[in-house]
Amino acid sequence: DTRTEIIAVGSELLLGQIVNSNAQFLSEQLAEMGINVYYHTVVGDNAGRLKEAIEVAQKRSNVIIFTGGLGPTKDDLTKETIANVLGKKLVYDEEALASIEQYFIRTKRTMSENNKKQALVLDGAHILKNDFGMAPGMAVEVEQKIYMLLPGPPSEMKPMFQNYSSKYFIQTLGIQEKIISRVLRYFGIGESQLETDIQDIIDEQLNPTVAPLAANGEVTLRLTAKHTDEMVANQMLDEVEQKINQRVGEFFYGYENTTLVEELFKLLIGKNKTLSAAESLTGGMFSEYMTGIDGASKVFKGSIITYTNEVKANILGVSEKTLETYGAVSSQCAKEMADQVRKMANSDIGVSFTGVAGPNSLEGHPVGTVYIGISAEGTDTQTFKFNFTGTRNGIRIRTVKYGCHHLIK
Ligand code: ATP
Ligand code: MG
Repeated sequence: DTRTEIIAVGSELLLGQIVNSNAQFLSEQLAEMGINVYYHTVVGDNAGRLKEAIEVAQKRSNVIIFTGGLGPTKDDLTKETIANVLGKKLVYDEEALASIEQYFIRTKRTMSENNKKQALVLDGAHILKNDFGMAPGMAVEVEQKIYMLLPGPPSEMKPMFQNYSSKYFIQTLGIQEKIISRVLRYFGIGESQLETDIQDIIDEQLNPTVAPLAANGEVTLRLTAKHTDEMVANQMLDEVEQKINQRVGEFFYGYENTTLVEELFKLLIGKNKTLSAAESLTGGMFSEYMTGIDGASKVFKGSIITYTNEVKANILGVSEKTLETYGAVSSQCAKEMADQVRKMANSDIGVSFTGVAGPNSLEGHPVGTVYIGISAEGTDTQTFKFNFTGTRNGIRIRTVKYGCHHLIK
């Protein structure tokens, strides 16, 4: 059980000149880490009263966090008083001393003994680096109590706590950090394009991290957040996800291990719509994908495989004129296939696939030329043209996936 007390040192606080926002910030952070804060104490810049406050805290708390009074002036006496109460020496921290000296060399000012004082730390203390000021923070453990000293200015104290104090607590108090990840799935955008679109987000994110991965014509982003509080980690993931999808959201289709067909299935169920397909170059592959889903019959009525023009005309009812004038690899043919199968299957939506899977070109169209048609009651039938590259099977798979993708959109 960590009974924690925050002692804010500073007469301005008692005079009402400033609000004790440090205690508020620290309490919030500690609560998220599961560390119980039981007392907030405020004491002026007075050695005697600070000593009393420490002695009271020692009786009731085992983690005591001080803010303020680490500076160079006479009224900054937090370190000195704690050293006195704990019977510890103050020693120079070489690194802090060097960086203070560097600062004065850089700014061409002369350094006073007072400034040197900022590099004094409690003997044996664990140093908490001050990335935004000169006085380092510190933590010491004495008789199973932790004393942590943080600077007063919030601009120094907050980053110090977030970057160094929390790590110290995680180590010394054995607090578990939780690692939570989330996979975002994208389709219809290449890996390099997606990476370019969000490069700055990938670069600036350390927690959560953003890692792209491409496989099977899809791109995934794995977001990983670390925090002691699972809920906070999830909020961090939400924020980054939102930022990313403000840019590439039109290509986002789902989370974790979902697939395009699964998302299509869920969408159709949700909208209570039925679907049928007319497949040429995919030869039933779309149907295979759909019927691979448990419960597919609720939304998927079936597929007609019309591999030859003869079957497109005689069974599906694609007009001879269309086939003669435009050929099977055409937007007109895709449209008629989708319209016809929708009517014949009596479904809400009809989808069609026609094109050249290869290895040889067809009707003068290069390998990879594909048309997808989508027919729905009450709207104009849409067709989409693609120029895929790759193997015969790769082209067929991509055709099916793009079909799902456009049906989801
Ligand atoms: P410095 O090196 O600036 O003197 P310090 O560690 O000695 O830092 P203080 O002198 O106690 O800190 O306070 C410096 C300033 O930090 C205050 O004037 C005030 O603006 C801010 N500050 C100090 N304590 C708090 C607090 N508890 N809540 C909010 N702000 C604070
Ligand atoms: Mg000060």
